[in-house]
Amino acid sequence: MHPIYPKLFEPLDLGFTKLDNRILMGSMHTGLEDGNNHERLAAYFCERARGGVGLMVTGGYAPNIAGWVKPFAGMLVSSRAAKKHKTVTDAVHQEGGKIAMQILHAGRYAYHPLAVAPSKIKSPITPFKPRELSARGVEKQISAFVRCAVLAREAGYDGIEIMGSEGYLINEFLVEHTNQRTDEWGGNYLNRMRFALEIVQRTREAVGNDFIIIYRLSIIDLIPNGSNWDEVVQLAKGIEKAGATIINSGIGWHEARIPTIATSVPRAVFTWVTQKLKQEISIPVITSNRINMPDVAEQVLADGHADMISMARPLLADPEFAIKAKNNRSDEINTCIACNQACLDHTFNSKLSTCLVNPRACHETELNYVATYHKKRIAVVGAGPAGLSASTVLASRGHMVDLYDAAAEIGGQLNMAKVVPGKEEFYETLRYYRKQIELSGVNLSLNTLVEPSTLSGYDEVIIATGVVPRNPKIPGQDNPGVLSYIDVLRHKAPVGESVVIVGAGGIGFDVAEYLIHTDYSPDAQDPASWLSAWGVADPEVARGGVVSMQFPKSPRKITLMQRSEGKLGAKLGKTTGWIHRSTLKHAGVAMVGGLSYKEISDSGLKVSNKDDVDEIFPADNVILCAGQVPNRELYDTLVAQLGSNVHLIGGAHEAAELDAKRAINQGARLAARL
Ligand code: FAD
Ligand code: NAP
Ligand code: SF4
Repeated sequence: MHPIYPKLFEPLDLGFTKLDNRILMGSMHTGLEDGNNHERLAAYFCERARGGVGLMVTGGYAPNIAGWVKPFAGMLVSSRAAKKHKTVTDAVHQEGGKIAMQILHAGRYAYHPLAVAPSKIKSPITPFKPRELSARGVEKQISAFVRCAVLAREAGYDGIEIMGSEGYLINEFLVEHTNQRTDEWGGNYLNRMRFALEIVQRTREAVGNDFIIIYRLSIIDLIPNGSNWDEVVQLAKGIEKAGATIINSGIGWHEARIPTIATSVPRAVFTWVTQKLKQEISIPVITSNRINMPDVAEQVLADGHADMISMARPLLADPEFAIKAKNNRSDEINTCIACNQACLDHTFNSKLSTCLVNPRACHETELNYVATYHKKRIAVVGAGPAGLSASTVLASRGHMVDLYDAAAEIGGQLNMAKVVPGKEEFYETLRYYRKQIELSGVNLSLNTLVEPSTLSGYDEVIIATGVVPRNPKIPGQDNPGVLSYIDVLRHKAPVGESVVIVGAGGIGFDVAEYLIHTDYSPDAQDPASWLSAWGVADPEVARGGVVSMQFPKSPRKITLMQRSEGKLGAKLGKTTGWIHRSTLKHAGVAMVGGLSYKEISDSGLKVSNKDDVDEIFPADNVILCAGQVPNRELYDTLVAQLGSNVHLIGGAHEAAELDAKRAINQGARLAARL
């Protein structure tokens, strides 16, 4: 028995095969599935197999063209294609790992004109109206699932996952919201769930008994008119009887307006729904969503909420998650902060997924931190994300690295990000880097403002001095009521009851989020309040698990402003921006655009609107969040003295659209080649 995580490292016996532990790497679409990337996929999965995960699930492969998520998405429809997957499966098996392939039919979520669905009802998140399947068409989709599963077995996978949740095709058959058929595939619930049951039953018959079939079942749809609890249980029992090995939990359809995986979602907040289902069936159940550290996973298992834990993004962030936990090195885990910035946001922008905290994710074949035989003395100035990433990679490769920061702690701006409610996962990133500094032997000097004279005798110098706030030059901005985001977030300046925030970028939104709370403490994050704020209820009480939202109103009167016209927060994350906008709106924060700033005085901020009419917004405090510019003074002096051995990364290099993703990536890539 494992001394710290006895449940997590208990093997799971499936009868015909045994999983080493209870950690499932959940399916993630990385973009590598959509082409001839088998070598890269093999490298990606092999690292995770070596890292000790119990079972991995690939990104979704369509069983036919209609099922593509987008044009030319990955699909498995021929033995020729199956042979290519052997590159992946053989490599994983050589590492002692196990891998299942997800079969995903997009249904009406397909981003192409060949979409099909039970009924001709367009989804709110895609532009294409699906074609309604004929009865023959339904049969063809079932056969496509079965053929795909057989090919997956031929390709050497240990099993498949049938994607039955998140609002994709199978899910669409289950609810009247998307299934208005009157034939044997629609109408009463027995008819509506027949599609799912037929797929599982015929697949089991075709693949034999010694092949894992995971069925991902939507246990809480989080849409009005979603499934009720009786239907969920009835389906799960049917799926068990039809021959599934394991049921995985799906939380929320993609069109749901309730966040399910973003960083502001409390850890493990949905596992109670899996527990409800676990009581009803006898095959193992997997739970998921916002479980990102071994202690959280262990607790969920110890509480009897599930038999296995699905962690998808946490395995993107750290391929060695399992082995580190197993070897009592959890403090070395590079924790997924649930930002979506480099994974899901990339997918939705048709870019290859990677990870903000681990730029090697999905780049395993080209970004490698190889030990150096040519040790250099390297100075890194600035211990923000760019400098932390560069210094720790350099030292891990064998260089002698001195890391300097003027501040009393590492992290740079992440120390402001971490105090924003819902962003406390950044504490984990800082813990990870503190540990990496120790392990890699970086020589850290805090409280050290570096001057050009400090930097003599180095082979290379890396300047990662970050940014300074942009001066918006508004007349009267020296008024004592004017604060910067640094005063508020870092120096905890007292803030009055009426506030105007100048600038509605990521920081303006974060400052507003910070100010709608009083007495917020990261440890006091209360899952029950979060569920009630977003209107999540027990699906046994409310169909789909949705009731009306109960957001607490902001104790302050806050107005968020920008000069440009159009929606505020338009440049926030693709998959998370709506959450920030929605939170502030529900809290009562006013958002105004299309203004020009005229003057700040004791009475507040005077602006003129697009019709040139002046207006005063009264405010106890005006908080400036007007963007940032590079802090490059040190670099400019040094480069004149030292020339090409001085490198510039992170915000000091380019402040526009800078984020921690770019800073960490730039630091790591420079460190990999020096
Ligand atoms: P910085 O983080 O600015 O670090 C620069 C460091 O250099 C500082 O520690 C400074 O003390 C040090 N320094 C400067 N000059 C000297 C000198 N002469 N000698 C010694 N040390 C020096 N990004 C995201 O990706 N996701 C988010 O959710 C997110 N949220 C944010 C929320 C807030 C409130 C803020 C303020 C920022 C947020 N960011 C976020 C942006 C992100 O923090 C920055 O993009 C990132 O920190 C930039 O990294 P950097 O290493 O270039 O610079
Ligand atoms: P930003 O996103 O560029 O926003 C700057 C804001 O200031 C804009 O609303 C802009 O709007 C306004 N502005 C620009 N110049 C101005 C001027 N001269 N006078 C008055 N207003 C001006 O920058 P930020 O909010 O400072 O964030 C810094 C970086 O951190 C960004 O790159 C961001 O991506 C990153 N960040 C990311 C997150 C995240 O969650 N991913 C969170 C926080 C920060 P107008 O020009 O229309 O007035
Ligand atoms: Fe997690 Fe963010 Fe990395 Fe995605 S990009 S895996 S959410 S840390």
